[in-house]
This record gives sequence, structure tokens and C-alpha cells, in this order.
Amino acid sequence: MRLIIPRRRSREIILLYHRIARVEPDPWGLCVTPEHFVEHLEVLSKYRRIRLDQVRPPGWSVSRGGLSVAITFDDGYADNLHEARRLLERYNTPATFFLAAGYVGGAREFWWDELEKILLPDRASDSLEQQLDAYFALYQRLQPLPHGRRREILDKMLEWCGQEAAVRRSHRMLTAEEVCRLAAGELFEIGAHSMTHSVLAAQPLSDQSWEVRESKACLENLLSRPVTSFSYPFGGRDHYTAETVQVVRDAGFSRACSTAGHAVSRTDGPFELPRLNVTDMDGDQFERFLSS
Ligand SMILES: [Zn+2]
Repeated sequence: MRLIIPRRRSREIILLYHRIARVEPDPWGLCVTPEHFVEHLEVLSKYRRIRLDQVRPPGWSVSRGGLSVAITFDDGYADNLHEARRLLERYNTPATFFLAAGYVGGAREFWWDELEKILLPDRASDSLEQQLDAYFALYQRLQPLPHGRRREILDKMLEWCGQEAAVRRSHRMLTAEEVCRLAAGELFEIGAHSMTHSVLAAQPLSDQSWEVRESKACLENLLSRPVTSFSYPFGGRDHYTAETVQVVRDAGFSRACSTAGHAVSRTDGPFELPRLNVTDMDGDQFERFLSS
């Protein structure tokens, strides 16, 4: 008599985090507090935690089943090393860190953070709501621009309001040395996230190619190992094109992540892996989020 093993549907989810920090204001909800991140890791300890390169198209399987979760971080904020790493290690949870290579160890904050510094200087202000409206309006205008043009505008704005371009401690990127320390952890992979974090779809193909190839080369130089995973800056359907996907493939990457907010499905190819963006929710909310 054959033993009949009930088949359980397997489900794979890739999570997207940005920062493990407590920073105000946080107009894009990039920060998850260390306390909440621990609660997320507690919840995840009940499931299979996999590396990004272990994500496979889902199906029905006898040997596998249940939920598998891969964790990714975008951008390359310094708190990825100083907060996220020790907590991920405590819970033996692998993660991929996607770095905007042109910002590593840089003397400037990410452009959306500089814009926040200029436009939202007084977080206690009664007019914070209007200031936020102005922030989002200007953000939309700056987002599709080429990096150089956007920088010129931000430089002028900094000058007008008498501010320094100096990087705030709370908003700094990983340095090159810190990237190497992060990469030294056996659980962790370093991936590329372009050079300047521009909207690739809005740039000429030659610039897209430079962003993709140069970020790979820079990080490989730094780490002396292949960098095989990419994540599209901003990651939405409007932020990259079929040509961008081809550029990433041709550059020698093995996989790439978008921000399409759903579990990995049969139709998702390795160069458009969807991810669920995680915000600062507590453990109970996170548990419901995973099963929704
Ligand atoms: Zn990003």
C-alpha cells in the first residue's frame, strides 16, 4: 500500500525593507523600529527563511510546502549594518542588501532625504501638513530627472535656504569598509541597486546600461566576488521597462527584484521577482500581513 502524503501548497514571499531605525519625519515610511523588526523576526522564525537565490517558481510539492520567506533591504543605509545585521544574525535569518553603489561612502544623502531636510526642517511645525504637500509635489518633479540635473536643483535649494549638504548621522549611507563588514556575514548577500538611484525608465538606454553595469562592477571591485542580484530603483512598473530588464540580463545578473506587491507566482520570471514592502508594523500586524 502506498502512503499518501497530503500535498501542501508552497508559497514564497520576498520582503522589502529599507531601514531599521527610528527617524522622524519619515515621509515614505522607510523605517521599521528595531523593536518591531525583532517582532517580525520572531514571527518569521516559524517559517522557512530562504536566501534570495533559493526563490523558485512556486507549485504543488510533496517535499516542500508552507510559507518560505526571503528578506531584502534596498538602498544601503548605515543602519543595515548597525541595527539589521545583529538582529538577523540573532535569528539566523539570511538577507540580501541592495546598494545604490554611487552613494556608498558618499558625501551626500539620498536625494529624497536632502529634499526632506530642506522642506521639512521643523517637524513640530503646525504647517507640517502643507510642508509635506510641497515635499511630495517637488519629489514627483525631481524623481524622473537625470541625476546631474536633480543635483543642480538640490544644490541651488540648499544654497537658498542656507543649509549645508553635510550628511546627517541619522541619514548616512554605508561606507565602503562597512559594506565589506556586512558582506562578511555568511548569511548576507550584497546586490546592486544602480549607481544614482534614478528612475531607469526615464533615462536613455545608454545611461541605464551604465547604471546597471557600473553598479555591478563597483561592488564586485569592492568585494572581490560576483554580484548577481539587482533591484530596480523605485521598482514599480513605471520605473523600468522591458529594455531595462534586458540590460540587467545582459550585464550578467542572475535575478532582479521589483516592488510589485505580491507573493512569487508562476508567471514571475527571475528578472522581475515581486516583493512585499514592509512598513513599521508590530508582530501581530506583520503576521496578518504575511497571510493576506
Ligand atoms: Zn531604492
